[in-house]
Amino acid sequence: MAERYMLRCVLCGASPKVEARVYTCPRCGLDGTLDVCYDMSALRGRVTGETFEASGRRDLWRYESLLPVAARTSIPPLQVGWTPLYASAKLAETYGVAEVHVKDEGRNPTASLKDRASAVGVAKALDFEQKAIACASTGNAASSLAGFSAVADLPCYIFVPERAPAAKVAQLLVYGATVVLVRGNYAVAFDLATWAIERFGWYNRNCAINPYLVEGKKTCGLEIAEQLAWRMPHRIFISVGDGCCISGLYKAFRDLVDLGLIDTLPRLVGVQAEGCAPVAEAFDAGAERVTFRSGDTLADSIAVGAPRNWAKALRAVRESRGDMVRVTDGEILSAMTELARTAGVFGEPAGVTAFAGFRKMALAGKIGRDERVVIVVTGNGLKDVDSARKAVPEPILVEPDPEDLLRKLGNIAR
Ligand SMILES: *Cc1c(COP(=O)(O)O)cnc(C)c1O
Ligand SMILES: [Zn+2]
Repeated sequence: MAERYMLRCVLCGASPKVEARVYTCPRCGLDGTLDVCYDMSALRGRVTGETFEASGRRDLWRYESLLPVAARTSIPPLQVGWTPLYASAKLAETYGVAEVHVKDEGRNPTASLKDRASAVGVAKALDFEQKAIACASTGNAASSLAGFSAVADLPCYIFVPERAPAAKVAQLLVYGATVVLVRGNYAVAFDLATWAIERFGWYNRNCAINPYLVEGKKTCGLEIAEQLAWRMPHRIFISVGDGCCISGLYKAFRDLVDLGLIDTLPRLVGVQAEGCAPVAEAFDAGAERVTFRSGDTLADSIAVGAPRNWAKALRAVRESRGDMVRVTDGEILSAMTELARTAGVFGEPAGVTAFAGFRKMALAGKIGRDERVVIVVTGNGLKDVDSARKAVPEPILVEPDPEDLLRKLGNIAR
């Protein structure tokens, strides 16, 4: 099939041929993640805000002209994307910035931003006529892949760390995936999955390795541009694990610049948990590459010591003149309740990490008063109720008796 795109290595610029099993640069190996590049000179003037609107779609296929999917029949029929972007006057006032907008990615079919990647990953598996698909994941990429494979009738094999939150594992099993819980962390699960994918010849939906996933994730950024009516944000906050989400935002705005639809990239601010922040460490040190290390955080989705998309993530932050921020697990938990109580969005720990980063930067006086800020909440709070319960007090337990109720509620009720 004649492709509308080519692949280009983010490290050496080589363009390997588009084939089902070409995932990373043959020269650079796993570090050489690939960009999906379209013929922008041909698309300039032909792909605009009006063409997105004219598609009539309110999901990520609104951006089909900028997605690497060949056949419409490959598109799994689930409503992904076009998630709400809420303006919060309260947060803007509290933190002294002009505008704060919260993008709720928990509103996707399996309740995280990963659905954008899985929609495109499964479509590519069908394009390439693959017989089965697999991934290693901290949880959300897996549940999302399981959901999309189910509707596409594609057998699905999932490798997750043993301590993945119960809700995420339940989701996988409900969708009918074959689930392998690996005794060890995400890095260990990733390595075992990589071995099995090779051994059994499955299609590889591992984050970073598969070049099409970032294309799916970029639709989050394209939506932000449209939902703000092209009044571009000055700064966007997003949490960073493997680095695919932030790379997706970068790619969105890079494409829009290349199409002549915007002038500059908004500053992308990646937020990591202090206990596991290899990308932030490399950024702060001005290092050329990220050093993999062990580490942990209660925000399981970003407990990633070996971020596979490190090259794209560093590029996203550096080229956009952005920043990396680190927050503690305690700050993540308090961000969870504050965000829910101000903007009404209940995110999982990694979901609210971006807000924790924004709050820290704002309180340090590092955000201009005239700035328009977007905070991406990457996953829904119901994904990890055990962590959520750590952020809140116990409820009031009473006997079914007005006396007992008065005794316990009397001094707080208004
Ligand atoms: C995967 C995930 C992230 C981190 O995304 P990366 O692409 O791995 O950087 C953040 N939050 C949630 C909820 C996720 O599922
Ligand atoms: Zn290369």
